[in-house]
This record gives sequence, structure tokens and C-alpha cells, in this order.
Amino acid sequence: MHDDITLTTGRAQRVLTERIWPAVHATSVPLDVERHALPGEPIPPREGLALAMEPYEVGTPWGPAWGTTWFRLTGSVPAEWTGRPVEAVIDLGFDTNMPGFQAEALVYRPDGTTVKSINPRNQYVPVADAASGGERVELLLEAASNPVLLGHDLFKQTQEGDTTTSSPRPLYTTRRMDLAIFEAEVHDLALDVEVLLELQAELPTGPRRMRILQALDDALDVLDLQRIPQTAAAARAALTDVLASPAEPSAHEISAVGHAHIDSAWLWPVRETIRKVARTTSSMADLIDRTDDFVYGMSSAQQYAWVKEHRPEVWTRIKDAVAKGRFLPLGGMWVESDTVMPSGEALVRQFSQGQRFFEREFGIRSKGVWLPDSFGYSPALPQLVRRAGFDWFFTQKISWNQVNVFPHHTFWWEGIDGSRVLTHFPPMDTYNSQLSGEELAKATHQFRESRRASGSIAPVGFGDGGGGTTREMTGKAERLADLEGSAKVRWEHPDAFFERAREELTAHATSDSAVWVGELYLELHRATLTSQHKTKQGNRRNEQLLVEAEAWAATASARTGADYPYDELDALWQQVLLLQFHDILPGTSVAWVHREAMAQHAVITEGAQAIIERSLRALVGEGDTALRANPAVFAQAGVPALGVALAAEPTSAPSTLTELPDGGYVLANELVRVTLDAAGHVTSAVDLSSGRDAVAPGRAANVLQLHQDFPNKWDAWDVDRFYRNSVTDLREAEKVTATVEDGVATVTVRRQFSASSLEQVITLAPGSRTLEVALRTDWHEAEKFLKVAFPLDVRAEHVAAETQFGFHKRVTHTNTSWEAAKFETSMHKWVLAEEPGFGVGLVNDSIYGYDVTREVSDDGVAPAPGVPAVTTTVRLSLLRAPRFPDPETDQGSQTHRYGLVVGVDTAAATEAGATFGARPRELRGGTGVEPLVTVNSGVGGGVTLSAVKLADDRSGDLVVRVYEALGRRASGTVTVAAPVSGARTVSLIEDSIAGGEVDVTADGVVALDLAPFEVRTLRFARA
Ligand SMILES: [Zn+2]
Repeated sequence: MHDDITLTTGRAQRVLTERIWPAVHATSVPLDVERHALPGEPIPPREGLALAMEPYEVGTPWGPAWGTTWFRLTGSVPAEWTGRPVEAVIDLGFDTNMPGFQAEALVYRPDGTTVKSINPRNQYVPVADAASGGERVELLLEAASNPVLLGHDLFKQTQEGDTTTSSPRPLYTTRRMDLAIFEAEVHDLALDVEVLLELQAELPTGPRRMRILQALDDALDVLDLQRIPQTAAAARAALTDVLASPAEPSAHEISAVGHAHIDSAWLWPVRETIRKVARTTSSMADLIDRTDDFVYGMSSAQQYAWVKEHRPEVWTRIKDAVAKGRFLPLGGMWVESDTVMPSGEALVRQFSQGQRFFEREFGIRSKGVWLPDSFGYSPALPQLVRRAGFDWFFTQKISWNQVNVFPHHTFWWEGIDGSRVLTHFPPMDTYNSQLSGEELAKATHQFRESRRASGSIAPVGFGDGGGGTTREMTGKAERLADLEGSAKVRWEHPDAFFERAREELTAHATSDSAVWVGELYLELHRATLTSQHKTKQGNRRNEQLLVEAEAWAATASARTGADYPYDELDALWQQVLLLQFHDILPGTSVAWVHREAMAQHAVITEGAQAIIERSLRALVGEGDTALRANPAVFAQAGVPALGVALAAEPTSAPSTLTELPDGGYVLANELVRVTLDAAGHVTSAVDLSSGRDAVAPGRAANVLQLHQDFPNKWDAWDVDRFYRNSVTDLREAEKVTATVEDGVATVTVRRQFSASSLEQVITLAPGSRTLEVALRTDWHEAEKFLKVAFPLDVRAEHVAAETQFGFHKRVTHTNTSWEAAKFETSMHKWVLAEEPGFGVGLVNDSIYGYDVTREVSDDGVAPAPGVPAVTTTVRLSLLRAPRFPDPETDQGSQTHRYGLVVGVDTAAATEAGATFGARPRELRGGTGVEPLVTVNSGVGGGVTLSAVKLADDRSGDLVVRVYEALGRRASGTVTVAAPVSGARTVSLIEDSIAGGEVDVTADGVVALDLAPFEVRTLRFARA
């Protein structure tokens, strides 16, 4: 027969778009509209509902960036609509961009209860299922005129990202504010046609596809385009058979969960996220009420806490839906945080604060960690996830890799200690699924575990800025439950999916089991380790200060009976945890967010310092003796870890400073001798015991390098590989001065470059292996990347970098595409290039990014003719200057501290990193303080203290967390110098675990054997 497939699909597509969808609300009458515009910050709904309104005509521009307009819509149901379902239809002037990236509104009834929200893909508001003629309608809209920052022009510089710079002109023009009959049959027809059209597009040309096409033609033949509501049922009848044909028995199974990724801040400030969460959850509560099987999952205890505090009327609806098992708290974290940069203790608190909230409010704990969108995942996570009591881990972000395709979708992810967690990546590669035919086919075809596993997860709903699942999506799910040619779709809790996946994977355990060992490195967004330096600096400072505050407060409580500041610490931690959200800590939000983050970090610092000072004062008592408190978990300056002692003079000889004839300097102490050239660069750094020089021969270290840095997209997120091709070494010194003060040799170097200037204060303290650099930069660059380079005379096959509770190694070569893609990587407080017997570390106080390159010189000269010399160059990433989304990123005054540590191994690097950012506190008082908790590591070291605090449950129990830092088996003891009546091992979030009892001596000593990189949490009952 003559056949033209495109004739049918083209016809169906046009009729669907131009006739069927518009016919869903074709019968309508305009509502009367009034408004009250508020240009500034939002007000509580009860105040908004009471505002005096002025008349408003639909079609009038409204809404400057970040403003709120309250609209009142009134009208009455026409008599002839009696018995029909009636809805309001509201178009605020939406464009084709995604929901959550433009204007949106929450709809209230006059009594202040919420109905649902509206956005570009969800413009209806239910008024009555069966209306009465003459019924009065009144709705109030809290409409947010949020600007479009990403959509029309991708990554273009904009001033709209902050109220301090955004323009006051109105951004939107309303198109429609009507009362309309909802033609349910037409809506059903639209979904029938859409599902079939999308399905046939994915099918091979065969009987199933051809029958669908014929059915579509048959349906359109009976559909009267002038009388669509009247003929929709007949058209649907023509589609019944093709829609009733069941799926193949082996069809891929989709576990759908309603979802709205809501970034806790990103292209909007936190205050807008609070409203976004209320809008999305109202709509989801409404959809849950109108469906039987739909389930909606939402992560982030913080987002629930916001609704509870700011929108109690929405909170009640969430609580009801959670109780019914339809609204699913997911993830167990405080926010969907970055996982690469937060400290180990901070990640533990993400879990403990999240799970405690879910337990307290809903009586449930999450079984899995839900992080669809964070930018890479630390190899410490599997252990932390498991030891916090979770069974599974979920993300999809690795599908964004620039180069390599990840080999698994359902697999065991193994961390640095060997812990494995069942992990799933949805093969449709999105956390914003619309259940399209294309997505379902992609899931089916891409799924890597089809040999042994039956299905995958689909997070269904509009996201990033919220929006969530629509009734069109639930309507599609209904049609896709069991449909020939399609994957099968069912709504279910991800827990159910993971339970099945675990059985399927375990039943087919073979030697090639799906296992991935080590970090889940995202081959994209590598610059998130550097952008918005002050946000990162605040994070490092405060997560450390809070751990210190807990330790002194616990000591003060045990020793003096001082009250432990539970509420204060919880509140401060929650603020730090929020600022670790995956667009805040990575530095990828608008200016407004980072401006607030800096201010918030200053407030947190103040709060933490107040606890520390109060606790120390209680501990040392009245007096005028010079004392020194050591906040580090290693002894330093003659003071034991977490102890206070008399401030003694240093026992090491003063460092010396010698000026050289060429204008350079030699700084030396008993351990190292460092040579600077006349421009202040390090030309040599010799470990005196071995005689080894850390700096490659003929090279200079501590050289600042400026790169052009204009990525192809995602400015704040990305640095593209080609950035390395253009570089300027900042070699010129404007001024070099040198002094020795208090035994510390200091050389100060000032440099100017383009519009910027900087000062490096280079010091060598007595008895220290660390050449420390305090860098102050006045940064006025655009699209540049500042690095500081250390070409090391070390043949390092791997470089070790600290991560949470340990370190991991990455190779220095680029043999494979996987290795080549890691051209910018992460660290915590140290990175170490080591060959057997000699290592060089770089420590820092607030830097997270670095890169490593290797060069081999075989020039017949060094170190001997014919012998290759390998140079390992480690560069710390200091500052960037992207123009999107914050056009002023990192401009102005910036500070960094970093150090070159000569002659160290992983143990010494761990100690150097820990003490570098936790300098002793000088104070006056009556007496020194013996540490409350002392950790002794046996031969070879490794057992390291992480936290000393009182238990979250406020029982007064003492919680001590230790870990093995060196990747070896280690034995040691933990001693509590306070009366204790018992001890047990507990989970990371302080829950009892089976077999957790441990012996504790009368002197409070617990003996420990730790596995490599093991994290152990001990809980002591106080006598
Ligand atoms: Zn996100």
C-alpha cells in the first residue's frame, strides 16, 4: 500500500498542539483582577492576603526582577456550567523556559489555605469538580517576578542576579486570567495521542508502529476540529486497542518517583527557595489528593524546615501526605550538599541533622542518600553513607561527563576503606524526567545492567527551580504502566526499587560484578573547586571552628559542669550545612547568594568564637597566667591536642635569614634550608636530614601563574582543558623586603600585574618544615585563572590528596581518557607528591583545587648523562574571574595561606595539614587544662581524633570520633579523662549498633584496632 509515516505523525502533532491541547480550556470567561505590587522583599501570606488592591487589566506589564505582586481574582461560575468541572487558567506572561526559571505563583483561597501553584507548564487552578452556576470564585496569587537568568541567552553576563543591581522595569505581561470548563475527555485524548506519538517515534518500522499510526489516523478522522469536546470520546475509542496492548514480559521497568529538584539557592536567593518549596509542595499535595498511586519524593530536611517555619498551611498538607505514604522524605541529609569539599565532620552532620529532622517530624529515617545533582562524589562517601545507616546511594550527575561514559547504572560503589554501597544512576540521564517516549527508550537502551537487573529509577517532574510533577505526567504514567513497545512505568518508593535491585544484583554475583572503586569524578564543573573563594574560605573556617567549639564545650561541661550549648551548636551547624549546598559552596550561584553567604559565614564565625571563648574561660578560670590552647587534633607548640598549657617559649633555635649577593635570600632552621631568588621565588628547599631538594633543578617554585580562562559554557562551573595553553608567569617583583622577628624569618614580596596586585609574606618558623606563604591579592581580572606552581624534584607516580577521613591517590600520568579528564582535582588540607623515602607536601587553609603535571627531561645533563629526571609539578588553584552568573565573582581583596612542607610522608602531611589551619590560641587565665580526650596511636600511627562532643540526643553522653588516617591497620587507645561508666561503638549519627559494646577501663581507656581509613564513633556514658 502507499504509505507515508510522516504524513500521519505530522498531522497528529499539529492537531495535538494547535487544536486538542487548546480545547482543554476552550470555554472560558475572564475573571476580575486586582493587584498590589511589592517591589522589595516578600511579606508573610496573612499580610499579603490583607493588602489593599487596585484594579488591574490583564495584558498590563507587571513585576520587576525579584518583586512580588499579589493578585486577587474574582468572578462567578456561569449558570450553564452547572455540574461541569471548572478551573481557573492563569498565564502570568510565561515564556518557553522551564518552570522555576521565571515567574511563578502560589494560589491561596481567601481563608489563607493554599490550592496549588502555577508555572508555565502548570497553569490551572481547580475551582470545582462539579460547579454550581452563580458560585462565587475568589483566588489570591502571590506572584514572584523572578528574572530569567538562564534560558534565552546562555551564560550571558547579567546584572539581574542581585536586587542591588537589577533593573526596576516590569518583566512580564499577563495573557490570561480566566475561569474555564475543564474538558476532561479532551485532556485524556491529548495524553492518549501524545503517548502514542512519542512511543511510535522510538519504534522500528514494524507492525506495532504501523498499527499505532493507523489508530492515530482513525482517531483524527473522527475528531471534528470545530467540535473537539463533543467528538473526543469517539476519537479516543479509535485508540483503545493500541493503548490496551500489553508490554513485552521483559520490558524495562521504570520506578517512577515524583520529583522537583529545588536548588536551595542558585539563580535565586535562599528567600526565594523558601517560596519555591512552598509552591511546589502545594501542587504536589494537590496532585496526591487527585491520584491514587502517585508518590512524590523530596530531599533536604532544610526545605521541610522552611515550610514548617514560613508556610504552616502548606506544612500541614505535607505532614498528612507523608503519613499516607504518598509524600516521601528522601536522602536523609540537611541539604543536597556538595560532597567533595565539606569536611568529614560536616558530612556526618549533613546526615545527622537530616535524619534527626525526619525522625522528629515524621518518625521515619531515610534509607538512602539522594544526590542527583552534586558535582562529583568523594571516595570517602561509601563508608560514611553506610556507617550513617543508609543502604543506598542515588545520583545521575556523572552522565554529564565530558569524555568518558560511566560503565554502570546499578552497581556497588566502593570507597577508600572498602565499604560498598548499592548505587544507581538513572539511565535516562536526567533528574527532570517528563516520562517522554524518548526518555523511556533511552532508559531501555542505555541501561548497562540489563543482563541481570529489571529496571531503573525515573525522577519525574520539572526541577532545578522546582515545579514538580504535573497531571500530564501522572496521566502518561497511567498509560505507560503496561504498554506494548514501551518500558513499563509504575510509581514507587525508591526503597522498593533498591530492594529489588539488590536482590537482582546479588542473585547474579559473578566475578565481573558491577563495582566502581574510588571517587565518582565529574568530568565537568571542575572550576567549582575554586570559584567564589570567600564562600569556600568561610566554609573551611567555620566547619573547623564548630568542631573546636564542640570540643571545648564538651570539656567545659565535663570539667566545670558548664551547660553544653546544644541549641546554639545545632543552629550554627545548620547554617554551615545550608551553605554547603551544591550551588553555594561550589560558587555557582548569583551574586546575591554569595553576598549573603559571606555575611552568614561571618555571623557563624562570631557564634562559634563566642562558644569557644566562653568554654575556655570556664576551663582556665580567673588569673593572669599566659596560656596556650591547642585546637588541633595533634600536639603543637608544646600543648597536647585539645588541651591548654602554659605558653612556653619555643625550644627550637630561631630561623636565620641571609641575604645573597644577587639579591636573593636564604631562610633556614634546623630542618630545612630555603633559597629565594631576587624576585622572591623559591629556587631551592632542602631537607637537611636527607639532603634532598624539593625544587626541581633549575626551576622556581611558588611562582604565580595567570591563565586566560573562558570556558565554552558554564562560566563559574567549568574550566576547559585548553586554559593551559596560554599562561603568564608573574615573575616581576615590585618590592622585596626581609626581616627576622621572634625567630621567624620573613621575606615579603609585592607584585603588580594587569589591573591587580598582590603581596606574598613568606615565612619560615623555628622548628618547622613548612615554608608558609600568606598571600593577599587585590584581584581585578576578567576571565582569568590564578595558580601557584611548585615544580618538585620528585618522581611521583601518584599524588595523594586529603579527603574526608583519609586521603586518596591519583596517578600523575594521562595514559587513559579517564586520567586525562582529571586535569583539575580536589583536595582538603594537603596534597603530597612522594617517592619512597622523600615526599613534598602542600598544605592550605582554604584551597580545594589543584592540578598535577609531569615532565621528563632527558637532556643529557640532569641528573646525569642519559638519566631521565622526572619533575612533578603541583599547582594550587587560587582565584578565578568568571562573569556568569555573578559578574563580579571574586573581585577585590582576597587572602590565602598555603605552605610548602619539605620532607614528609602521609602521616606528617596529615599532621601538617591539621595544624596549619588550627593555630594555638593565646589566652590568660588561672590554670592549664588537661585534654578531655586523648588518642594514642600505636607503632606507625594512624589513629586520629576527629570529634569530641556531647551526644545529639542530649543525654549527656560523650561522643568521640576517631579515624585511621594513613590507609593502614592501626591500633591505639582513646582515653577519656573524666568519670565514665561504659562505652560502645555507635553509628556515625550516634545510633546504637548491634555488637557495639566495648570494654572501657576504670581510667576511661578504650583499646582500638582500626581498619585502613576506618571511621569509628564511640559513645561514653558519663558516671
Ligand atoms: Zn541542583
